[in-house]
Amino acid sequence: MSDYQRIVGNNNVQVMGRQGPRNTRNLVGCPDCATPISRSADECRECGYPIRRKAIEFQLEAEAERLSALYTYLALGAVAAMLLGTLLPIPELKAPLYLLFFAAGFLTLPVGKQLDATKRQLARIRSSF
Ligand SMILES: [Zn+2]
Repeated sequence: MSDYQRIVGNNNVQVMGRQGPRNTRNLVGCPDCATPISRSADECRECGYPIRRKAIEFQLEAEAERLSALYTYLALGAVAAMLLGTLLPIPELKAPLYLLFFAAGFLTLPVGKQLDATKRQLARIRSSF
C-alpha cells in the first residue's frame, strides 16, 4: 500500500452504476463530504477539498515528526555519552563513550538539516494554496 493510499484511506467506495452497485478500487471517499472521487484527483469535484495537497501535507508532517524525534534521541544520546564518559570511574569506557558522543553529536547535523528542509517544504506547500 502506498503512503498516499494509507493517508487517504483504502476504503472501496460503492458506486451505483447502470448495472447496479459496483465496487471500484480507484475511488476514495472525500474526507470532507464523502463524495466518491478518483484516487488521482487533486481535489474533490463536489466540495473542493484539496485531497492531494492534504495527503502531501500529512506525509511531510509525519516525516518532520520522525526527524524531530531522531534529532532529540541523538542529542540526548550525545549528552548521556559525554556525561557517562566524564563521570564513570572506568577508564576503559572513556574512549568508547567519547567516541559515541562525537558520533551522535555529528549525526545531529544532517538530521537537523533534513528536518529544516522538511519544515520549509511544509511551509511552502501550506502557503502556496
Ligand atoms: Zn468533498
